Amino acid sequence: MKKKPSTLIGIPASPGITIGKAYLPDSEEISITKKRIKPEDVAEEITRFKEALSRTKEEILKIKEKISKEMGVEHGEIFSAHLLVLEDIMLIEEVVVRLRRERFCIEYIFLDVLKKYINAFSKMDDEYLKERISDISDVGKRILKNLTGQRTRTLSNLSKPVIVIAYDLSPSDTATMHKKHVTGFATDIGGRTSHTAIMAKSLEIPAVVGLEEVTRKVRNGDTLIVDGRHGIVIINPDKTILKKYESEKRKLLTFEKGLASLKDLKSETKDGHKVILSANIEMPDEVASVKLHGADGIGLYRTEYFYMNRKDLPTEEEQYQSYKLVAERMKPDSTIIRTLDLGGDKFLSQLEVPREMNPYLGWRAIRFCLAKPDIFKAQLRAILRASAYGPLKIMYPMISGLDELKQANAILEEVRKELKKKKIAFDDDMEVGAMIEVPSAALTSDILANEVDFFSIGTNDLIQYALAVDRVNEKIAYLYEPAHPAVLRLIRSIINNGHDKGIWVGLCGEMAAEPSLALVLLGLGLDEFSTSPMAVPEIKKVIRAVTLEQAKKIAHKALTLSTGKEVEEYVKARLMEYAPELA
Ligand code: PEP
Ligand code: MG
Repeated sequence: MKKKPSTLIGIPASPGITIGKAYLPDSEEISITKKRIKPEDVAEEITRFKEALSRTKEEILKIKEKISKEMGVEHGEIFSAHLLVLEDIMLIEEVVVRLRRERFCIEYIFLDVLKKYINAFSKMDDEYLKERISDISDVGKRILKNLTGQRTRTLSNLSKPVIVIAYDLSPSDTATMHKKHVTGFATDIGGRTSHTAIMAKSLEIPAVVGLEEVTRKVRNGDTLIVDGRHGIVIINPDKTILKKYESEKRKLLTFEKGLASLKDLKSETKDGHKVILSANIEMPDEVASVKLHGADGIGLYRTEYFYMNRKDLPTEEEQYQSYKLVAERMKPDSTIIRTLDLGGDKFLSQLEVPREMNPYLGWRAIRFCLAKPDIFKAQLRAILRASAYGPLKIMYPMISGLDELKQANAILEEVRKELKKKKIAFDDDMEVGAMIEVPSAALTSDILANEVDFFSIGTNDLIQYALAVDRVNEKIAYLYEPAHPAVLRLIRSIINNGHDKGIWVGLCGEMAAEPSLALVLLGLGLDEFSTSPMAVPEIKKVIRAVTLEQAKKIAHKALTLSTGKEVEEYVKARLMEYAPELA
């Protein structure tokens, strides 16, 4: 039967259009082979089974807690039924009895018993019991995955192009995706500036997040259109819709090619006011994309990904080699390396960091590094050593006050002295900066400016803290307003305070990639914009479309308005006037 098309609207996370087949990694089948075991191995197989049961229980409890928190207790209760399956004595006993009697591996016996249960339930008339089939099957799969060690997510070894559909994707899941095979993704939860969304932009794949029920509506193999600019997912489109989007996709490519012609042009206003237009990267191999899009340097190298998807911590040597490679490839342009910004929505499997009630307000970024000087120093040494090979700068994330900044600088100074003593070469004049992404830092930026060579405004966090809006929560995404007067006022004061103290000020949050707001930032005197590589040409076009005076007027007017909506309408109208093709 032909499936009817349906459309879901979510939050645009990464622009572009992709058309392809859906793949739901969490619904993957697991392959089990029937293997004989020796009588002396029976006890060990039972232990493995018990361990898998308790690991599964832990997993389900965690999911239950997460869903209850994010979607409400009644949704979390679904998982109580899963826990009941796990505690079903009859099922467990039957597995153990058959294992002792038949002596096949535990995976095989368990799967066989599971099938028998599912079969029996499906024949019952009772609707309630029939509904339990999906609980039994879900829990069964989890137990089997824990028994076999097969990973739930297999995004790194796909063999054909797919669009990934998931409840959520962690930044580390996204980091394992290869854009050759994952041509786009869509998730139930998440916000515009989550690191998963940022990673999608780095990979240059279209993505939509916060769709709420995409995993319920889409089946493996469905045809999908993902329109990342408008936050739309169309399931099983008919021929007319498909044709329309294929033509949109072609138009978009032509538009992008047009922008590519800006690559070698300067990022300066019509009257010759120059700004630095840099790019953000997550992985060293993005340097090629930075150059391809004509950026003036790297304004933010998020080093956390180095620490993800591995069992151990990266050594100083490994980090040094990587930073050196980036420095050499980017030379003569400079690269700002941000020190480890662990926490928030980025967790590292190898570090025992306790779960927190408010991870974004918790033990993260510079707070973590100051508490773990060995980890911090290894990274600082690696950056300093690499600075001998190309222009590098360093910046600390999440600075919230003067003491923290002084402590970080003191540790950096210690590392410098150590290297000097050992006669290891490094750039002694390397610039050091602070990210300004916490309101307390913004409000004391006149004081902080005395301790650093530059500021880089991290609006992704600054907005969430200033407006009290979690950046990854789709339910309150409508309140996450970069154009909010409170945000604009904070940015104005950071730039003015920085300039008064003679230091330069950049901005490396996603806000720098919004063409209409770029007009305001330019007018406020921002010295450096740093965006995902793919957004660089658009922002260059905006900068080249106005004079500094025009931008100043726009900023001045925008700062007199009372709400984010008013500002947005006003700046969109100005963009329409100066760069209509981007509006
Ligand atoms: C920011 O907060 O704006 C920023 C650039 O850092 P991240 O997105 O990695 O938190
Ligand atoms: Mg940040």
